Amino acid sequence: MPKPFHLGHIDMVGDYKPGDPRPEGYMDWHEWARVQTEAGLRQVRCGVCSKWKFPQELSAHPEGAVCLECHGERTGDPCPS
Ligand SMILES: [Zn+2]
Repeated sequence: MPKPFHLGHIDMVGDYKPGDPRPEGYMDWHEWARVQTEAGLRQVRCGVCSKWKFPQELSAHPEGAVCLECHGERTGDPCPS
């Protein structure tokens, strides 16, 4: 009796929209970043860690662009408004 063919789990990627927050997974990140770039969003360099970030990853800061991670480290607030 043959075993039923097991398709396994298929991860659905590619369902990101411009402005969506950054996903956790590395592969997801690439798909997400592609969507952001194709939508016309451009990465800006964080003034603290010098990493390239999309606008939705940055917080408004008097000193210029600061990513949410650096902002959280500075203020202790993981969810800056
Ligand atoms: Zn940063």
